[in-house]
Amino acid sequence: MSKVVKFGGSSLADAKQFRKVADIIHADPERKYVVPSAPGKRFKEDTKVTDMLYRCYDEVAVQGKDFTEAFAPIRERYNGIISDLGLTLNLDEEFAKIGENFKAAVGSDYAASRGEYLNGIVLANYLGFEFIDAARAIFFDNKGNFDADTTDACLGALLDKTPKAVIPGFYGAMPDGTIKTFSRGGSDFTGSVVAKAAKVDLYENWTDVSGFLVADPRIVENPEGISVITYSELRELSYMGAGVLHEDAIFPVRSANIPINIKNTNAPQDAGTLIVPTSHAPASEHVITGIAGKKNFSVISIEKDRMNSNKGFLRKLLQVLENHDIFPEHMPTGIDTVSVVVNSSELDGQREKLTERLVEVVKPDHFEIIDGLALIAVVGRGMRSVKGTATRVFAALSHANINIRMIDQGSSELNIIIGINAGDFDKAIKVIYDMFILSE
Ligand code: ASP
Repeated sequence: MSKVVKFGGSSLADAKQFRKVADIIHADPERKYVVPSAPGKRFKEDTKVTDMLYRCYDEVAVQGKDFTEAFAPIRERYNGIISDLGLTLNLDEEFAKIGENFKAAVGSDYAASRGEYLNGIVLANYLGFEFIDAARAIFFDNKGNFDADTTDACLGALLDKTPKAVIPGFYGAMPDGTIKTFSRGGSDFTGSVVAKAAKVDLYENWTDVSGFLVADPRIVENPEGISVITYSELRELSYMGAGVLHEDAIFPVRSANIPINIKNTNAPQDAGTLIVPTSHAPASEHVITGIAGKKNFSVISIEKDRMNSNKGFLRKLLQVLENHDIFPEHMPTGIDTVSVVVNSSELDGQREKLTERLVEVVKPDHFEIIDGLALIAVVGRGMRSVKGTATRVFAALSHANINIRMIDQGSSELNIIIGINAGDFDKAIKVIYDMFILSE
């Protein structure tokens, strides 16, 4: 057995957190490869080192301010951790190199990546593990897309000869050596890439919560935790905005059938949430695994007589949307009607043009854009072939006097998606939670 462990920014925010992390790693010899984030917030109003670096880079490279002064708070964060841990490590040379590169304006990706880079050096020193710079092992192609094959081969070969290592998260290198980062929160993705390359049995993702909850705790008081969830269920939920883990992080490990365990650095005894392939999933405790939702959707509603016998109608409609960079989220259709649900923000600044173009190309009998829709996804592998799940969702909403404006259920029977007025959002999640979790 071997494991990759990724620690988020709050798990490495100061020396106290570093000690917890080291205890966790040393408690299990199978924890061989460690992927750190940059130091995160120590308290609510604190600033993440990544954000400090973006700001500092702007001050130095764009506004021409003095590096030593602008970088001082960042230097203090690292030197504080180093001295509190009693390490003899000295990062002055690294800081000087960063100063040169900031002054040469090498790019904000480089700047942001230094958070993970420096933290990786400190953590490797503290653990007694080898440090592997992600620029030597994680690759992007010339277009800036993650190069999975090259990375897997190089990183795999490097890890094969390195029994214990720290590999900083969040960044890698382009073919010409330029540093590039993933999107924010991307250390989760690095962890997944390392887990795949090292062919480990488990990817532990350590954060500051004990896994996923069935529903948003800001809406449902003290919701139950989810002990096991499948990759597919998580996709349905993360897509709707439940964000403990970076959205892309499941893909590398999913293709290699490696489970992810979300764990809490501040409560390591908690089991957390295990994310597994569908084939490995035990029967779920409840019919539903999770409820998530998002506000700010709009419906483009189109009516046209004999729409279903009008060849190419949907293609033309979708082409117009594509030309305006609009991605349909859902598209319930009737015989003579089609509703396209889209993110309202995608309509910003182009409502009139879009309307004109749709009227011209699609020639609808009636056309309308309706705002203020919220979508709620009720997700669970337990609902497959179980009768009455939709009835219970609808009954819960109807008892709460909530009008359902859209319904969508995929044939995989993994989720039921409903559209309601945004004003009913919290109430809808509460009553669905009560129906499926409290009363089961
Ligand atoms: N430090 C980076 C961020 O704040 C990446 C990460 O933490 O995963 O987005």
